[in-house]
Amino acid sequence: MSESVIRCDVISAGVAEGSLCLFNALYGPMVGTAEPSGERPEAEMNRFKEQVASLVKDLGETVDCLESESLSAEADVIRAHISMLQDPMFHARVQQAIGRLSFAADSAVEHAIEGVIRVLAESRDPRLAERATDMKDLAMQLRAKLSRQKVRPLAELLSGVRNPVLAIPELLPSVVLNAHRHGVKAFLVERGTALSHGAILAKAFVLPALRVPTLEMLRMSHGANVLVDADAGELLIEPDRSESEGRLRPFIEVSSAHTDHLLPVRLWVNIVTPTQLEGFDWRGIEGVGLYRTETRFMERTDDFPREEEEVGVYRHLFALCGDRPVTVRTADLGADKAVPYMSFGPQNNPYLGLRGHRIYHFHPELLITQLRAILRAAAGSHRLRLLYPMLETVDQWQFIQGLVEQAVASLRAENLPFQQQFEQGVLVETPAAVLSFPRLLGLIDFASVGTNDLVQYLFAVERNNANVAKLYQPHHPIVLQVLKTLADQAREADKSLSVCGEIASDPELLMLLVGLGIDNLSVAPKEVSVLKARLTSLRIPACRELAHACLEAQTAAEVRAKLGIRPQSAIEATSTLVGRGQAVDPVCKMIVKIEENPYSLVDRDRRYYFCSRPCTLQFQKESDREGSP
Ligand code: PEP
Ligand code: MG
Repeated sequence: MSESVIRCDVISAGVAEGSLCLFNALYGPMVGTAEPSGERPEAEMNRFKEQVASLVKDLGETVDCLESESLSAEADVIRAHISMLQDPMFHARVQQAIGRLSFAADSAVEHAIEGVIRVLAESRDPRLAERATDMKDLAMQLRAKLSRQKVRPLAELLSGVRNPVLAIPELLPSVVLNAHRHGVKAFLVERGTALSHGAILAKAFVLPALRVPTLEMLRMSHGANVLVDADAGELLIEPDRSESEGRLRPFIEVSSAHTDHLLPVRLWVNIVTPTQLEGFDWRGIEGVGLYRTETRFMERTDDFPREEEEVGVYRHLFALCGDRPVTVRTADLGADKAVPYMSFGPQNNPYLGLRGHRIYHFHPELLITQLRAILRAAAGSHRLRLLYPMLETVDQWQFIQGLVEQAVASLRAENLPFQQQFEQGVLVETPAAVLSFPRLLGLIDFASVGTNDLVQYLFAVERNNANVAKLYQPHHPIVLQVLKTLADQAREADKSLSVCGEIASDPELLMLLVGLGIDNLSVAPKEVSVLKARLTSLRIPACRELAHACLEAQTAAEVRAKLGIRPQSAIEATSTLVGRGQAVDPVCKMIVKIEENPYSLVDRDRRYYFCSRPCTLQFQKESDREGSP
């Protein structure tokens, strides 16, 4: 038995063991001394500017480092810090404190930031409240640079400690970044939530973090061995060995011929071109879970690809994959995947029109040619899996089987060598496919869930439409229910099922998907390393518990809260899609097209675009009111 177990709130999932290192303040306390400087204000202001520039430079290097590790969202956190540092309002406040109140630069920084921190911390919006921590973090880093007393760096504080578990008041982003570099294994904090930027970074680096009731209660345990079980929400002080081992080891271990780790699920990779696999690190990867071959069709400008050319491309693919299984999805054209040499006929809603296998009815030669090229290239010992897009019903499966037979018969008739053994599967992307799944299971070898489209069709929400982006809800409990049902049915029928839509690549959803019973994930190459690292410390019972709680939720927001995912603001949700001929109506915030938009006007040298006449008039009225003396 361990000496004591403390129940805690989870900030970042995972399990780790190490020596407890308790620090009440890493940068020294914020004391608010507001000492007069005794220096000339210009000299103090110059010192402030120099140190801001130096901190901006350090943070810029951190951004580059994070980008090079493909941690773009985390890099954005630090970019936001750079903008805060460069904010003219902040500089004006510091200048005022130095000039009018004769403060030293470090006291002026504290003075300037204190009020902002208080307002943010008291906000009822949890995201704004968390930004107070960011401000505090910046103030402390800046103060450490400005301070005439030397602040001891973390590396020095932790020197000689094996596997440090850092107990600190709150998870400041700069501390997480530093700690990640200096081998810290986990965090214990007194304040903050899973929404904070520090928590986002901890999750990205797979560093478990718990919120303990108070730091004071850990004071006597400084230096003790502790187990941070942020899957179960428990901190164990001096755990005995069997208890630690039980919690640190994954619950089920599925080994694959190609993994060097024992992972609780199989990881596959999604590709759009075989060149992505040149020099690819296959460790921990089962094979290709989705090759989107329509890119071959979209690259061309004149005609469908020709068989001889394609044989060469697929041969390159199979050579790069060796004896690993390769899932080739046949051409999924239509909707947003247009080709310049085909019109797709008149259609009011291309997403409900000629898409995926529906085109094969008009152009069976398209699929037959592609299948011939794939089967010829795979001749030999390759483990080929053919995946058909958008397939919904048994009769559609039978139609495809007819074309496969024609392709095979023609190769045989021509006496060409080709791969005779292959598996065939469906990409489940529509509600009809979900309902047909029990019938399809008797026919197929495997299945994959294309959640990008499935979510679109479940909610009848176009996947690329910014104005309805908030209604596209991959976290919604009904999506989770569908995934669980499919996983249960596939397991019962002893057929392999994977998820290959974007949600499979989202590290924040990993525990949930595993808990729902998804044991194959096909993911974007850039997410592989983060997902692999997380999978090694995953505990299945905790995943199941989490999935159970999410299935019970009523809304997507509730699920996101349980997963510790910060709520997306309307502006964030839409801003990524603005640009490229689009603008935001300043009145109702709808995203509108710029081209041929009749509702547009110029106000104070700037052009605005609107969705309607009422919005245009409303804007004019407000602008006139503001302009009147
Ligand atoms: C999907 O819909 O989830 C999928 C994998 O297919 P695509 O994104 O290529 O439409
Ligand atoms: Mg799709």
